[in-house]
Amino acid sequence: MSREAARNHETIVVGAGLAGSLTAVYLARRGFRVRVLERRGDPRAPGAKEEGRSINLGLSQRGIVALREVGLLERLAPLTVPMRGRVVHLPDGTLRFQPYGLAEDQILHSILRHDLNVALVDEAERLGVEFSWGQRVTAVDRTKPAVTTDDQAVHTADLVVGADGAFSAVRTHLGRGLRMDLHQEFLEWGYKELLIPVGDDGEPRTELRALHVWPGDEGLIVAHPNADGSLTATVFLPFEGEHGFAGLTEAGRVREFFARRFPDTLTLIPDVVEQFLAHPPASLVTVRTAPWHVTTDDGRGVVLIGDAAHAVYPFFGQGMNAAFEDCSVLNRCLATHPHDLPQALAAFEDSRRPHTDVLAELSKRNFVELRDKLRSPLFTVRKKVDLALHRLLPNAWVPLYTLIAHTTVPYGEALARARRQDRLLGGVTAALTGAALAGLTHRLQAKGR
Ligand SMILES: Cc1cc2nc3c(=O)[nH]c(=O)nc-3n(C[C@H](O)[C@H](O)[C@H](O)COP(=O)(O)OP(=O)(O)OC[C@H]3O[C@@H](n4cnc5c(N)ncnc54)[C@H](O)[C@@H]3O)c2cc1C
Repeated sequence: MSREAARNHETIVVGAGLAGSLTAVYLARRGFRVRVLERRGDPRAPGAKEEGRSINLGLSQRGIVALREVGLLERLAPLTVPMRGRVVHLPDGTLRFQPYGLAEDQILHSILRHDLNVALVDEAERLGVEFSWGQRVTAVDRTKPAVTTDDQAVHTADLVVGADGAFSAVRTHLGRGLRMDLHQEFLEWGYKELLIPVGDDGEPRTELRALHVWPGDEGLIVAHPNADGSLTATVFLPFEGEHGFAGLTEAGRVREFFARRFPDTLTLIPDVVEQFLAHPPASLVTVRTAPWHVTTDDGRGVVLIGDAAHAVYPFFGQGMNAAFEDCSVLNRCLATHPHDLPQALAAFEDSRRPHTDVLAELSKRNFVELRDKLRSPLFTVRKKVDLALHRLLPNAWVPLYTLIAHTTVPYGEALARARRQDRLLGGVTAALTGAALAGLTHRLQAKGR
């Protein structure tokens, strides 16, 4: 098939999660014939919501831009809860509010994964995408390309998109016999989800319009608000140790641990012990890999997208947002190279991979920030100075968090810029500290005289 004839019209997307269903929407809008193979059942089927991962997610600028591009943002707005900043819960019961940014639109939006997924699948179907549920892909032949499902059916296509998540089967098969890099790292901490229900009066038990964080080096909780007034709290703990998941298997110890580390959760989650003991912990993984794509001589190809290409720890709230940005960038590359799929896939990987590699590092770093630094007064002061400088020089000085969450500046550029600012901030802090010390010495000397 010539490159022109291929025109990648026949497309198989593996995985109907967030990246798979959004990329199906983009491709269908470009006129591609798209079939999505998903190992799970239809998320719209009765009972599906309870079976799946129910966690809610923080949608930020990169995800918002992609959803706006495909015309879904307004439809999703009523399902979201705006979060204007973080409420930090300290062990002594004090709450400290830290705004996300200065501008009115510098907020995050909390949304249920299920609601978002269903909206994307509905939209893809409306555009003619065919979904095959309960179809697990078990093999990929990158030379055709073709995928095999667990019923032994072989599906050939011009373009195969591997959107099958962090433990991607497409990635595994793509790499066979290739010099493919694969770096996979599990965090020594895992997570469980707990529901903070609405109060007996039907009202939220705590401030709804914020992300809630209980920082700490022994454990960490992050809670996103839901549209019905409840919040979903994710408890992150070490897997091992007395105060890790391995040691917290008995009701008395669990209660004692929450009472000591996160006292206000006992009021916010009346059945915290029962919920905590109801499910096993889940793990968190970082994946970096290369290449993300392989093409054939006659212009067809396989490409990875979303977590299949770059799974990151959730501590910067960017996994889904980066996956949505992938979909948007892939769409742009296909528009720039409409008759050359290999060029389009190469341009996609070139423009994304260096930046998602940076995101992986930033997400690790934010784990340390949430765990160790958030309670530190010095850290809080530094954050305040950062925001004050942003207020003073809105375009020249932009904090890293703002660049990542509230702009679409590529991750690598955001980090480079933040490092320059950090050096300056360090200099300013050192100068101020030096001046303060000099003043103190002067006063002490004067007293001594
Ligand atoms: C605790 C936690 C909190 C998070 N919070 C946030 C947040 O606030 N903001 C944010 O941006 N991101 C967040 N993330 C990250 C986000 O969940 C992921 O980045 C996002 O789900 C990636 O989407 P995906 O479509 O690439 O993968 P997935 O959502 O994992 O979807 C992959 C799909 O492929 C299917 N599949 C897998 N294997 C096969 C196969 N062999 N054949 C067919 N189908 C298959 C799966 O069933 C699934 O439907 C969080 C993650 C976690 C774990």
